[in-house]
Amino acid sequence: EAFAKISERDERVGAYLTLNEEGARAEAARLDNKLAAGEERGLLFGLPAGIKDNMVTEGLRTTCASQFLRNYDPIYDATVVTKLKQADAVTIGKLNMDEFAMGGSNENSSFHPVRNPWDLSRVPGGSSGGSAAAVAAGEAYFALGSDTGGSIRQPASYCGVVGLKPTYGLVSRYGLVAFASSLDQIGPITKNVEDSAYVLQAIAGHDAKDSTSANVDVPDYLAALTGDVKGLKIAVPKEYLNGVDPQVKAAILDALKVLEGLGATWEEVSLPHTEYAVAAYYLLASSEASSNLSRFDGVRYGVRADHAGNLLDLYLESRSQGFGPEVKRRIMLGTYALSSGYYDAYYLKAQKVRTLIKRDFDETLEKYDVIIGPTAPTTAFPLGSQVDDPLTMYLNDILTIPVSLAGVPAISVPCGFADGMPVGLQIIGKPFDESGILRVAHAYE
Ligand code: GLN
Repeated sequence: EAFAKISERDERVGAYLTLNEEGARAEAARLDNKLAAGEERGLLFGLPAGIKDNMVTEGLRTTCASQFLRNYDPIYDATVVTKLKQADAVTIGKLNMDEFAMGGSNENSSFHPVRNPWDLSRVPGGSSGGSAAAVAAGEAYFALGSDTGGSIRQPASYCGVVGLKPTYGLVSRYGLVAFASSLDQIGPITKNVEDSAYVLQAIAGHDAKDSTSANVDVPDYLAALTGDVKGLKIAVPKEYLNGVDPQVKAAILDALKVLEGLGATWEEVSLPHTEYAVAAYYLLASSEASSNLSRFDGVRYGVRADHAGNLLDLYLESRSQGFGPEVKRRIMLGTYALSSGYYDAYYLKAQKVRTLIKRDFDETLEKYDVIIGPTAPTTAFPLGSQVDDPLTMYLNDILTIPVSLAGVPAISVPCGFADGMPVGLQIIGKPFDESGILRVAHAYE
């Protein structure tokens, strides 16, 4: 059924980069045998899953939507992919994205853009645009995305689906092609909150192969879906309502009324360092990216430039040909910020700002159970409307980036429409309180 929908729709949507039809059918046959033998079913038994193309899959092409990796077939599975297999999900293909997860509209894919299934003239968001669009179009039952500064939540918001960014360290990054290692997290993109809890249950947990993986017990997320939010204390940052599209703001205020009707209360608060988050993020994320992407040298992975006269030329030519313009921009920005003489002024300063932002969240979450606001300041914008203006594009992430810098969990859940396009409600929680945000999202939904 998933493949039928893909062949019917994906020519228009563009969510997939690689299909795993043969592998998926073999996997389905294995599950049939399991059923016939009366064996116990995994948590995600038989569910067709799409995987963002920056998670490595053994023998299945993994490109990060980059020309650099257009011929790269990994020799191992990312931990999340192993965990999905253990849960009996079936990988049906690899999903389009912004190249190396750098972007917020999926227009930075070096293969083709993704279109928003609600309106094909609009972007699906990014960088996990393929993941959100595939779920919205019924081309995958659920998908995995990765979020560095909003790349799960923002596309989920634009495409009217549920996206959860876990606490940094809850889900293993082993086998996730690194963009900014101190921020990257993998999480589920699903049609509803219950599915999100199921997928998170399957992928969360400590992994010795990831040195930043947290050694915490994984609770029963489904048990949190009680529908009960009586007495819940919600903080609504004024910085998250001022300046957003008026219709988006109205949808958020309506959602808060629904939660009030369920027995929750809310108060306006301030997260005063919000305005510095985007600047700090682009320095930190680009610095980490410039270091992480040095492994793409034409020798170890992917495509190697022909006719290079010597080793330096080989690096230069392979990187010039392999990376797209946004990736080059970030590598240059990051290399500059880390260079001697500028390190203290930029990188170190940005780290200090990060601490202040984290403190905003810590202090607020001491007094309140969750923080709520919009996921993005607007709904999905038309394709091509911001490609020539990277700064405007960067500002779309103003409401998701602070959460990433603080490392706390957040979920985006659909909360109505503005001008016919879906709006996302962002629910932010205490570290490792995924149960808390799932509970609120589920009660609201
Ligand atoms: N849009 C942001 C960026 O371009 C976030 C990307 C992400 O979360 N991977 O960096």
